Amino acid sequence: MGLDVNTLFLVTIYVEAMLGLLLLFAWIQNAGIHAVAWWGCSHLLLAGSVVLFGMFGQVSDAISIDLANAILFTAFAVTWTGARVFDGRSPQPMYLVGGAVVWLLACRAPFFADSMEARVLLSSAIIAAYTWATAYEFWRGRSEPLVSRWPAIFMLFAHGALFLLRTPLSQILPWSPTNQVFDSVWLTVLSFEALLFTIAIAFILLAMAKERTELRHKTAALVDPLTGIANRRAFLEQAMALTKRQGNELRPASVLLADLDHFKSINDRFGHAVGDHVLQVFAETASAKLGPCDLIGRLGGEEFAIVLHDAGRDKGLAIAERIRLSFADAATEVDGRPVGGTVSMGMVVSDDGAVDVPTLLAQADEALYCAKERGRNRIEVASLELVLQRAQHALDKDAAAKELAVGQAAAASSAA
Ligand code: GH3
Ligand code: MG
Ligand code: MG
Repeated sequence: MGLDVNTLFLVTIYVEAMLGLLLLFAWIQNAGIHAVAWWGCSHLLLAGSVVLFGMFGQVSDAISIDLANAILFTAFAVTWTGARVFDGRSPQPMYLVGGAVVWLLACRAPFFADSMEARVLLSSAIIAAYTWATAYEFWRGRSEPLVSRWPAIFMLFAHGALFLLRTPLSQILPWSPTNQVFDSVWLTVLSFEALLFTIAIAFILLAMAKERTELRHKTAALVDPLTGIANRRAFLEQAMALTKRQGNELRPASVLLADLDHFKSINDRFGHAVGDHVLQVFAETASAKLGPCDLIGRLGGEEFAIVLHDAGRDKGLAIAERIRLSFADAATEVDGRPVGGTVSMGMVVSDDGAVDVPTLLAQADEALYCAKERGRNRIEVASLELVLQRAQHALDKDAAAKELAVGQAAAASSAA
């Protein structure tokens, strides 16, 4: 199988330069992810190194071999730095140029310059080290749920391993100094793998950056920026999904509606910034008391909703009490100010676990209203009795208002 080396060089230079420009263009369009710029520069450096390799015979070996390799290693180091920057770590200048410096120093040793084996071994080791270091950086950031991270890790690891294979292969299949250097099937496969790898990795890295941007947009649309918990929309969506997941399973669920007490007065007395911190304290203390299947969301202002999965009346009340007490404790003093924050909650229990959230929230709201009326810093559970009491209370208020109106009318007519 024959392949003209000049053709391969030209194709590689063209492809690397295109990929480099494409990545830089993508970075300019979305300048938020700087790693893409690093990766673009890496491909341009690769193109530059292949240009120098292609000048073999026309310029000195110091340029077409030693310098070309130094640029090639720096290109791999730049990809690695991009991976660090992608996951919020800083570049490491020493290691960034380390591979090139080690190579150039080694080239000054006469033994090294004359030994093809030693040169292949060192260059393979440097490339494998940077490639595996890149895979490791992506592995370290695996807690971020990006699907494209995994093919990137796999490809980088496999490519590094293949580069190390070059050493034993070069022993078995010695380098031939003709123009048809790719006479051997193995060397052809390796050279093509390097070209295909660089195309594939450029697209995977771009996909990672795109996936992260989409994830951030999605998160921003669903998360309350102040407290970091679900916003109203996300909470309602998650609650619907919970109902669907439960299916026919008859497990109870409790829904809590929480409203901070006298919050306007907290803002007025201590300022809006302290008020914001009080909201964060509530989100933190409440979240800490919830199980992995429970939901919490900020419905707006100082109003929060919670769904307690598999929690009937007693369990639900116990958790709600824990939230109330821990918040009162944590909000006694906020930012060094004697805030004394408390929360009132209305609770409703769905015995069959059917979480029809809007209906349940409306019932919990009734209970919350009672908790406010009965002195705040307490929990009331929605029940038929509560509904009747509220109706009676409304009737009593109505009757008292009518009595007052009649009395005032009588007083007015006698005065006339
Ligand atoms: P109650 O005990 O009856 O619930 O009284 P309250 O003062 O808590 O209720 P009210 O509805 O009168 O006041 C709510 C206040 O919450 C008014 C609004 O300015 C404030 N607020 C709403 N959103 C935010 C926010 O994001 N940050 C801060 N600091 N305050 C907010
Ligand atoms: Mg309110
Ligand atoms: Mg309030």
